[in-house]
Amino acid sequence: MKKLDGKVVIVTGGSRGIGEAIVRRITAEGAVVHATYNSSSARAQQIEKELREKGQHIHFHQLDVRDSMACTKLVEEVLTLSSQVDALVNNAGITRDTLLLRMSEQDWDEVISTNLRSVFLMTKAVLRPMLAQRRGRIINISSVVGIRGNAGQSNYAASKAGVIAFTKSIARELASRNILVNCIAPGYIDTEMTGKLNDEQKQALLGAIPLGRAGTGDEVAAVVAFLLSEEASYITGQTIAVDGGMVMLP
Ligand code: NAD
Repeated sequence: MKKLDGKVVIVTGGSRGIGEAIVRRITAEGAVVHATYNSSSARAQQIEKELREKGQHIHFHQLDVRDSMACTKLVEEVLTLSSQVDALVNNAGITRDTLLLRMSEQDWDEVISTNLRSVFLMTKAVLRPMLAQRRGRIINISSVVGIRGNAGQSNYAASKAGVIAFTKSIARELASRNILVNCIAPGYIDTEMTGKLNDEQKQALLGAIPLGRAGTGDEVAAVVAFLLSEEASYITGQTIAVDGGMVMLP
C-alpha cells in the first residue's frame, strides 16, 4: 500500500518546474492526479505518456487559472472521470518583476489574478465535493517573498502574502468539516521561473541561504506528499518554508 493510494488530487501548473515535480512524486505515491497545463500541451502529453507507461494514474487538462468558468468545468471533469476530489494543490503562478515606479497596472493585475485570484477560484470550485465528502486537503504554493517582501516584486509578494492569509482564513472556516488547508513557502528553487534571474540576482539569493544552494522541485514535492498524507492529519493553517533556512519562521 502506497502513501497516497487512490487519492484524487488536482495540481495546477503541473507540466513543468515545481508542479511537474509534485505530479511525478504524488503519482509515484499512488495518487490519481489531474494536472493542468496552460500552454505547453506537448510537454503535458509527454509526461502523461511517460507516467502511464509506468502504470501511474495521470490525466492532463488544459486550464487558464484566471478563468472562473474553466475552473468550475475542470472540477466537473475530474468528478466525471474520478468520482471524487480528495485534494487540490494550487501551484500555478507567474512573476512580472519590476520596481514599483515602473510597474504597470497590467503587471499588477496579471500577477494578482494568476497567483491569488486563481487560488480563490479553484478552492471555491472544489469546496462542494469536499464538503459532501467531509474531508479534503488544500495546499497552496506561496513563497518566502510573501513573508519577507522583496524589492522589485511588490506585485508577486502581495499575491503570495494574500495566499498565506487566505489559507489561514479558509483553514479556520473548514476545519470542522475535516478539510485541512496549508501553505508551502519555497525559497529559491531551480526552475524556469528563477532561470530568468541574472547572475548577480542569483548570487545575492544564494548568499542569503544558510544551506548555500538553491532547492529542487523534488524537495518541495516531498513536503506536498507529506501534507497530503494521513501523517499530516493534525496540521492546518500552517505555512511551511522549504528554503534552505532563508526565512526562519517563529
Ligand atoms: P514555472 O514558471 O516553472 O511554472 C509555473 C507554472 O504555472 C507553469 O506550469 C505554468 O504553465 C503555470 N501557469 C502560469 N500561468 C498560468 C495560468 N494563467 N493558468 C494556468 N497555469 C498557469 O515556475 P515554478 O518555479 O515551478 O513555480 C511554481 C509555483 O511555485 C509558483 O506559484 C511560484 O510562484 C512558486 N514559487 C517558486 C519559487 C522558485 O524559486 N521557483 C519560489 C517560491 C515560490
